[in-house]
Amino acid sequence: MSIEEPSIFSKIIAREIPADIVSETDDLIAFRDIAPQAPLHLLVVPKTQQYRNVVELAASDPGLMARMVAMAESLAAEHSSGDFRLVFNTGEEAGQTVFHVHAHVLAGGVDEGTLAKPR
Ligand code: AMP
Repeated sequence: MSIEEPSIFSKIIAREIPADIVSETDDLIAFRDIAPQAPLHLLVVPKTQQYRNVVELAASDPGLMARMVAMAESLAAEHSSGDFRLVFNTGEEAGQTVFHVHAHVLAGGVDEGTLAKPR
C-alpha cells in the first residue's frame, strides 16, 4: 500500500469519482480521457499507484507494462481501426500532470501537430 494520497486515477479505480470505464482486469483499468485529444483517447492505468512513470514501471514490473500494451492494442481494435499511438508523458516538462503511471491510447485521426510535442 502506498502511503501517498490516492491519485485521481486511484479514486476512479475505487469508484470515488466517476469515469467512462471501458475495460478492467485484476491489475489494470481503462477509461476515456476527460479532455480527449483524438477521436479515441483512452487512458490505460495500473491499479497500483506505486509507479510514478513508465521508467519506474518498466524497471520494476515489465510484465505489467506488457499487459498495458496488450490492453491498448485490444481497445484500439475494439473502438477504432486498430492503429493507435501510445504516449507516456514522463515528467512535468513533458506534460505529465498525474504521477500515477498511465498510457494514453490515441486513435481515429491523431493530430500530428498537437500530439507530437508536450502540451
Ligand atoms: P498526463 O498529462 O500525461 O499526466 O495525463 C493525465 C490525463 O488525465 C490528461 O489527459 C487528463 O485529461 C486526464 N484526466 C485528468 N482527470 C481525469 C478524469 N477525472 N477522468 C478522465 N481523465 C482525466
